[in-house]
Amino acid sequence: MDIYVRPGVTFWYLSQVFSIPLRLIIDSNRNVNPQLLTIGQTLRVPGYVTYNYQIRSGDTLWQIAQRNNLPVDTLFLVNPDLNPNRLQIGQVIRVPRRVTWRFVNGKQNYDYNTMMNDLWTLVAVYPFIQMESIGNSVLGLNIPEVVIGKGSKRVHYNASFHANEWITTPILMTFLNDYLLSLTNQNSIRGLSSLPLYIQTFLSIVPMVNPDGVNLVINGAPQNASWRDQVIEWNNGNSDFSNWKANINGVDLNDQFPAKWEEERARNPKTPGPRDYGGEAPLTQPEAIAMADLTRRRDFSRVLAFHTQGEVIYWGFENLEPPESETMANEFSRVSGYQPVKTLESYAGYKDWFIQDWRRPGFTIEIGSGTNPLPLSQFDGIYDDVLGIFLAGLYL
Ligand SMILES: [Zn+2]
Repeated sequence: MDIYVRPGVTFWYLSQVFSIPLRLIIDSNRNVNPQLLTIGQTLRVPGYVTYNYQIRSGDTLWQIAQRNNLPVDTLFLVNPDLNPNRLQIGQVIRVPRRVTWRFVNGKQNYDYNTMMNDLWTLVAVYPFIQMESIGNSVLGLNIPEVVIGKGSKRVHYNASFHANEWITTPILMTFLNDYLLSLTNQNSIRGLSSLPLYIQTFLSIVPMVNPDGVNLVINGAPQNASWRDQVIEWNNGNSDFSNWKANINGVDLNDQFPAKWEEERARNPKTPGPRDYGGEAPLTQPEAIAMADLTRRRDFSRVLAFHTQGEVIYWGFENLEPPESETMANEFSRVSGYQPVKTLESYAGYKDWFIQDWRRPGFTIEIGSGTNPLPLSQFDGIYDDVLGIFLAGLYL
């Protein structure tokens, strides 16, 4: 929500009158010098939207503000030309409303466009978060990253490396939305207050590593797509892509990382297909390259890659992980009921590469159970299990 600066307005005043943490007001106005505010300038207040209200007979500004649990001055901040002595019946004014509801509806076929619409909404309502592009998919879709907080603990979460595991995206997006809600409303989540998490951590989220694959599983191959015949052929003649994990080139993005890639290659398919083909070399696919570049640039303290399914937390790679990996896996297990497992016979994954090259904690978390793609009827149950892991990834 935008407000217009009047005499006496400071970041501190906005934080008091709207009851929003000062840190969030400051971070929502990154390009503003708080010492040099000018009358009429707009500032952003996170966690609010405005709606239009038509003045009726007998209305007073005080009553309108009261109905929204807000000081009357907030009406002047969003309506710079409002004259309280000249209120007209039928006049339309803007009224601030504190956001206490989720914008993300995770229980739907959550394709790339659905995610992007939700991200644009969240960035508009919570301008203290930032969205950046980490690169493009094979079909040219921007792969977004959202960053929240400026702390020294640098945490990364990603979802939908595998196309038919796309439920991981709305699960992660719902956590993002709930984290933002708890920050602006100063509500605790599972008894934890979130502002200290925001201050201590820098959270990077890539909610859909493989957007082309997710769209293929959810929406199928469009009749007019030049690549339609090719992916159907790779899919054994089937136009139902429920088993498809790969990107649109038929490369499994979680077999693309230079961590014993040759061993993984040796036991896997040598040609493109729905799953397990790791390409002709590590890091040939743009989505995998984008994730590798991001990871090198960001210097993460820890990474959590969300997959389905199995209710398992994989935390090791070739004994290269640091001792705290096991401690963390045990805490993730405690809060979710998921099983910690050190390793499985699998290489060339994102978390394998992270552990190998940085010797820091990296995890693959297999959420839910059943057959991929997991049905949306599991959404609430999975979210309830995984919420503790999302939080522990920040507080540990
Ligand atoms: Zn997976």
